[in-house]
Amino acid sequence: MRVTSLCLGKIQELGEAANRWTTATFRHPVTQPVALGPLGFEGDEHADSTVHGGADKAVLVCAGAHYPLWRQELNNPAFFPGALGENLTLTDVDEQSACLGDQWQLGSARVEIAQPRQPCWKQARRWGIDDFVTTLLHRDRNGWYLRVLSPGSVQTGDTATLLQRPYPDWTIAQANRVFHFQKEDRTANEALLAVPTLAEAWKKKIRARLATLALLLLCALPVPAQTASEWLADPNFEAAIASLQQNNAWTMQQQTSICEIAAPPFAEAVRGREYAKRLAALGMEDIRTDKEGNVISKYPGSKSAKPLVVFSAHLDTVFPEGMDVKVRKEGDRYHGLGIGDDCRGLAVVLAVAKALREHDVTFNGTVLFVATVGEEGQGDLRGVRHLFTQELKGQVDAFISVDGTGFRLTPRGVGSNRYKVTYKGRGGHSYGAFGMPNPAHAMGRAIARLADIQVPTQPKTTFNVGTVGGGTSVNSIPIEVSMEIDLRSESPQELAALDERIRAALRYGLDEERKRWPDSKAPLDLEIKTMGLRPAGVQPDEAPIVQKAFAAAKAFQIPVFATGSGSTDSNIPISLGIPAITVSGGGRSPNAHSIDEWFEEGPDAFKGPQMAALLVALLAGK
Ligand SMILES: [Zn+2]
Repeated sequence: MRVTSLCLGKIQELGEAANRWTTATFRHPVTQPVALGPLGFEGDEHADSTVHGGADKAVLVCAGAHYPLWRQELNNPAFFPGALGENLTLTDVDEQSACLGDQWQLGSARVEIAQPRQPCWKQARRWGIDDFVTTLLHRDRNGWYLRVLSPGSVQTGDTATLLQRPYPDWTIAQANRVFHFQKEDRTANEALLAVPTLAEAWKKKIRARLATLALLLLCALPVPAQTASEWLADPNFEAAIASLQQNNAWTMQQQTSICEIAAPPFAEAVRGREYAKRLAALGMEDIRTDKEGNVISKYPGSKSAKPLVVFSAHLDTVFPEGMDVKVRKEGDRYHGLGIGDDCRGLAVVLAVAKALREHDVTFNGTVLFVATVGEEGQGDLRGVRHLFTQELKGQVDAFISVDGTGFRLTPRGVGSNRYKVTYKGRGGHSYGAFGMPNPAHAMGRAIARLADIQVPTQPKTTFNVGTVGGGTSVNSIPIEVSMEIDLRSESPQELAALDERIRAALRYGLDEERKRWPDSKAPLDLEIKTMGLRPAGVQPDEAPIVQKAFAAAKAFQIPVFATGSGSTDSNIPISLGIPAITVSGGGRSPNAHSIDEWFEEGPDAFKGPQMAALLVALLAGK
């Protein structure tokens, strides 16, 4: 093996203002000898130290043999050694031949292969190829990292000599395969974890993966009555399911009476107290209201506390204090604020509790029946966040939220970042003080800039300026103007990239407006306040919880053909890697969040609670 290129990089800011990003991936070749220490080459920088750099990523290596292929396949002559951001380009080695734990004499240093490279979005951005990251992995051309065992110096033209190969089965390509494409294969992941020299960061991810697989196994294994048809053949469960149809009027009565107790954002306590009372009346155990205001009650497992399933709906509405919450019935329609979102969910949770209690259904694991606070807008998922970060931290194996109406399955959480952006200046008379930066003009420039940002359709990524306001009169330069913006994506990476570009557009508006009045001493400032951050997360349709939800729908002939993404209580567990899904409660209610909200049962609203009960059973096990 020979070093054909040794490159070092400095952090740089790139792109037009609205698309600015920082990276050290543009590394440049050097010919002189360079000192190599435990953290890499002297003079080599990493832009994002949370992802790049560190002892297990001291040196990035790529195989020189790939470059002629890249140039040909991508028809891009710019693909020369160093183009993929690597420090070293080597001959006579690639991902099929290099193995984890290989030790080399490299120049006067001694190094060891620590881990394959996980290419990041910056490569895709640099080359303008959307699926470049997957391409690198699928073709096993991702490269790998070295750790430095003893320091020395390296120069272009030096040789690298293999000294030891303790794990000949673990080529970089094989590690790629297991890590990226065999996530469900326990044995393969355990074997990869057993490679002692593998970087700790990889080990940590594999351990978490194995823990999840073990839990899923726990959910899926316990012996009979695991499938939907087996559950429906259980006499107690069958009776409980039948009662959900017979008690349809009771469920509806719960829904309307809950709706008549106002539950504005941050003021759900009265409704919460009443909900706790109703759970108590149904014989639920250990009822408590946690510090955040979530109401929690227990349906104990027959054999053990595990798996622990949370079955939940949200207490809050989007409607402010003081609005008329009376429910009015016209024909088959119940008109009321929040009657569908989420009084339907709250009623479904109660109906399922009643059916299970009255028919003595026993589960293997424990089910917590919960009503959360703060799901809507400004609440920013504060209730469910509290559950998963404090109240029930580390305990929950599966989460179901019943939210809204119809028959939808939502296993993907759209992440959102919401900001209130304010431009502030000195203000003055529009005629007399003309000649100073104008906050409204700065904001206009920023809006025009961000409106042009291109976002991917897959994963769906969006942005919106939702409100604008400010100023005092037509003949005054405003002292301040502000707007509220909402950014969303199913992908955490895309959301982060968009966030960076939006911020650049906001700064651009500020800078350009300042430049417009170079002689003015009047200040112009930008303030960005976070209104809410909801994490994104994706579960594939193959995930057991999604498959179980499909099975539950099918058992009641509910036609569900596709899953969706949304911004609901499930976002938090999904982002933490805990199986979670949001289902809807049946019936119809097209005008959620509006003052024209109404609910109509239709012929099969009772199938909402039936399907939810079966999903709970499939997750809690027998
Ligand atoms: Zn809702």
